Amino acid sequence: MSQSDYDVIVIGGGHNGLVCANILAKKNKKVIIVEARSTCGGLLDDQIINCVPNFSTEVVNALGGLSVKYKPKSTIALSETGQHIRLTGNQHIDHRSIATFSESDADRYVEFHNKMSLFSKTLGSFMMSSPPRVMNHNYSDYFKLFKLGMNVRFLGKKNFNEFARMIGLNIADELEDNFENTLLQGLIAHDSIIGSNLGPRSPGTVINLMYRMANHDNSIFGGNYEIEGGCNQLTDALVSLAEKNKIKIITSAKVSKCIIQDDRAIGVELEDGKQIYGKSVVSNADPKSTYFNLLGSENLDTDVKRRVKHYRSKGRVAKLILDLNSIPSFNNCDESDLESRMIIAPSIDYIEENYNRSKFDKLSDEPIIELSLQENSEGMKRLNVQVQYASYKVQHGWDEAKDQCINSVIKLIKKYSPEIEKSIEGKKFISPDDVEIDYNVSGGHWHHGEIQIDQLFMLRPIPGASQYKTHLDGLYMCGAGSHPGGGLSGIPGKNAAQEILKGTN
Ligand SMILES: Cc1cc2nc3c(=O)[nH]c(=O)nc-3n(C[C@H](O)[C@H](O)[C@H](O)COP(=O)(O)OP(=O)(O)OC[C@H]3O[C@@H](n4cnc5c(N)ncnc54)[C@H](O)[C@@H]3O)c2cc1C
Repeated sequence: MSQSDYDVIVIGGGHNGLVCANILAKKNKKVIIVEARSTCGGLLDDQIINCVPNFSTEVVNALGGLSVKYKPKSTIALSETGQHIRLTGNQHIDHRSIATFSESDADRYVEFHNKMSLFSKTLGSFMMSSPPRVMNHNYSDYFKLFKLGMNVRFLGKKNFNEFARMIGLNIADELEDNFENTLLQGLIAHDSIIGSNLGPRSPGTVINLMYRMANHDNSIFGGNYEIEGGCNQLTDALVSLAEKNKIKIITSAKVSKCIIQDDRAIGVELEDGKQIYGKSVVSNADPKSTYFNLLGSENLDTDVKRRVKHYRSKGRVAKLILDLNSIPSFNNCDESDLESRMIIAPSIDYIEENYNRSKFDKLSDEPIIELSLQENSEGMKRLNVQVQYASYKVQHGWDEAKDQCINSVIKLIKKYSPEIEKSIEGKKFISPDDVEIDYNVSGGHWHHGEIQIDQLFMLRPIPGASQYKTHLDGLYMCGAGSHPGGGLSGIPGKNAAQEILKGTN
């Protein structure tokens, strides 16, 4: 075997790659991060992110501390009539807010929230370690599986039955059974489909919401934060930790393939031909890129190739960034409302109709959007708009469709903020295809791949690779395509590091 330069080579310096590298280096591994872009952070970028969950105590402890300040962000469902719903995650405030429209919705929201919170905690207990591998016939895997089963059983008979009933359910049925206010229904449905290729009437959207809640303090509308000073603060904190942990980072260095010897990854080759050798390699790239580009389809057996090919990872979210020369005003909103996530998704049917168009890769004239007002590096106001159901490879291509999408988003915002157009100084549009090219994520998907029942937990990203190991010895994965998925949690990175340490100690 060739001489190893490093214990571990991390391909990609997204936040998960940085978390993984730091935890390994703290355990005295000699680590290098090789990042394709000119800076680290990946999708952890102010242009991409609207709001984030905070890093859990487990992740922060594994890193040995992290100095980043999170500021809570509440949520407001905008209504054309000006009767907006404002939710914070605080039960009393939210009850009062909903009760101004419907007393019964307010009471049922508290019950619904408590139930969903209990279930998301149960799901969350599965997230902090790698999923068991059932066919392994290994006692620790059997024990893990038993523990997971017990966590669900400990919900009690009534809750267990309810959990089992809800797990495959669509969110629309649940919301229509519980609430009469269509704006509230639309708001909760929005957070159940965000980032996914599902509509509110698609089975599995309840589990999507639970999953999201598990990363957001087990709350539906609490647990949303902005990073004080912008997303770079988190990247900078992880990079300075890496410097402290003596990790070497090279940027503008795209890995073209893994070097394989005797059926084992022993290093990487960069696009410029440079080779770096390591005892293990871990990829922060998405699963399709990892398998097809880094490992190489010629090194995959037919079954694995088929599974990776069928892994669903077509992005559905675009970004429109509007630079403004003044603070915008929105009908019936005060300044504190402008600090919230503002969502335009007025009903379940509105969302479903948007979803139906996206199935045929068509854009909507009245899209679903989430707005977040931020400050750019020049101190100017910037409205970050997330556009849901903007298809990867949209009909007629994004070159043609881009202006149509920008115009319909601005036209829609004008209904709520009639003067907005006058303050727009600059526009930037990022389609899922742009995410693929500029951020090196095949398909441009929020989670590097759909969060759906057949791509979750022991099946994420594909059977046989759910414990952060690929089908090639010595090659691991640590990104959002691995359990438990994407968002700014750092959990895949932490779990992957723990798995690699088991294999290399
Ligand atoms: C449009 C959009 C909006 C989003 N909004 C939010 C939001 O508001 N809140 C939220 O919590 N989450 C949001 N997300 C999701 C979140 O950004 C991601 O899930 C998360 O950042 C993924 O982190 P990661 O470290 O796993 O991967 P990435 O951030 O994708 O990092 C992977 C890194 O690997 C590098 N890389 C890939 N291939 C190679 C190679 N061959 N050689 C070298 N380097 C390579 C890439 O350049 C990149 O830096 C959004 C995602 C999208 C697409």
